[in-house]
Amino acid sequence: MVTVRREANHLGARPSWDCLACTQPWPCAHAKEELLSEFRRHPSSLAIYMSSYMDEALNDLTAHGEAPPPDLYERFLSWVRPSIARLSKEDHDTPH
Ligand SMILES: [Zn+2]
Repeated sequence: MVTVRREANHLGARPSWDCLACTQPWPCAHAKEELLSEFRRHPSSLAIYMSSYMDEALNDLTAHGEAPPPDLYERFLSWVRPSIARLSKEDHDTPH
């Protein structure tokens, strides 16, 4: 018997930018975890990737003249930085 995986992907729905799986504002906690593990060796690529999403979200969310959401940076980018900080901290902690 094959079990069909019906796990929804935690992806941003456009133009609302709510998560398709859990309806939280995307990236939801689950999406962040997946992205952080996927990009753990390339945190600066993740920052670039997320800033392009932030641009697209800003376009979509202001397409009808709405005010830009004030928390977009928090939502798309603030959580990317801890992994960068953690990586550079590991470098510093390495004894010579
Ligand atoms: Zn989700």
